Amino acid sequence: METLLQEDCLVMEEIAVEGYEKVYKIEDATVGLKAIICLHDLTLGPALGGTRIYPYPDFESALTDVKRLSRGMTYKSAVSGCSLGGGKSVIIASQSQKTPELLRSFGRAIERLEGKYIAAEDVGCSTVDVGQIATVTKYVVGLMHDKSSGNPSYYTAWGTYRGIQAALKKVYGSDSVKDRIVAIQGLGSVGSILAGILFWNGAQLVVSDIDKERAQSIAKQYGATYVGPEEILSVPCDVLSPCALGGVVNDATIPAFRCKIIAGAANNQLLTDTHGDDLAKKGILYAPDFVINAGGLINVAEETLPQGYDPVSSRNKVDSLYELLGSIFEVAEKNGTSTHKAAVAIANHRIENKINVRSEAPCFHHYT
Ligand code: NAD
Repeated sequence: METLLQEDCLVMEEIAVEGYEKVYKIEDATVGLKAIICLHDLTLGPALGGTRIYPYPDFESALTDVKRLSRGMTYKSAVSGCSLGGGKSVIIASQSQKTPELLRSFGRAIERLEGKYIAAEDVGCSTVDVGQIATVTKYVVGLMHDKSSGNPSYYTAWGTYRGIQAALKKVYGSDSVKDRIVAIQGLGSVGSILAGILFWNGAQLVVSDIDKERAQSIAKQYGATYVGPEEILSVPCDVLSPCALGGVVNDATIPAFRCKIIAGAANNQLLTDTHGDDLAKKGILYAPDFVINAGGLINVAEETLPQGYDPVSSRNKVDSLYELLGSIFEVAEKNGTSTHKAAVAIANHRIENKINVRSEAPCFHHYT
């Protein structure tokens, strides 16, 4: 831990946001830090959620994003039984503006919250970046440290694969991906691993990324068809797997979808909750994002247990997303509701009844 001898220039202002427990606007002009930490719900435990680093055009768009992401974390944690609350943070910066000083200042903001918020990697924030943050606060998970769980993307990708299988089982009666056409949007940390798992299990892939060179190289590796970013959402396929950013299911895209299933890792895939109803009306089975992509959260949560991180236990928990999604599909069908609304109802039920509330404080074995 870094010892701070002088007063730092970090300003944390609490802003009132209806429906959210605590929201902090964070600034440190000396290092160009502008950030938000948003704690949506702490009923089941401290809020754990990644730090997204993105060049938002303004504060309002960053706030809109972090609110949606932190609410998703509340649901994700509740449905997956991680005994955590929901929170998220965003740093308004481009990759070139991301400096060690900026990350450490942000870490000091986390430290001031005394464990109410636990950070992890997210889009634009790597395991190296969370390592910087961890030099000034212990409230960080997913570190490249022998007592931490490392990059969560493998677990997210495996959970997403199991979710795709659960959806195939529901739609086709078999959970085999063999010869199924899966279109992946976004070949970053998660999408590229998912592509590999699907390839080795016999799926036919269609892939896209705004980084054309990367997408074409992965397409070559896995015998996939490469299409441009403007085409991927309307490709005829069994499964469309959004693994880039949120909001891909909206009024403009829904009429263009030519898939039977939407099952991917991206957070906030539905632009609004009602777009889940629109998918159901169109006969597309949607695997709720905060369920299918819970593998990363399950994995980082594992390292906060008293016994420390165990990859086998983590793998087994992530594996069970298959059964969880299967039961959500059944509940949705039985109740005549969208799969998204069914999953939200299950999460809310678990929060209201304090199911799996955390009984002991999280451990940070990398720090002790
Ligand atoms: P990443 O930044 O490594 O990858 C995202 C990829 O999407 C990049 O390669 C980017 O170039 C590409 N992309 C962006 N816009 C695109 C577009 N319009 N068309 C095609 N490609 C586009 O991020 P990641 O860690 O792989 O995460 C992907 C998604 O999954 C994010 O929404 C993230 O929040 C979510 N998620 C990730 C994890 C995890 O463990 N990493 C866990 C849960 C949820």
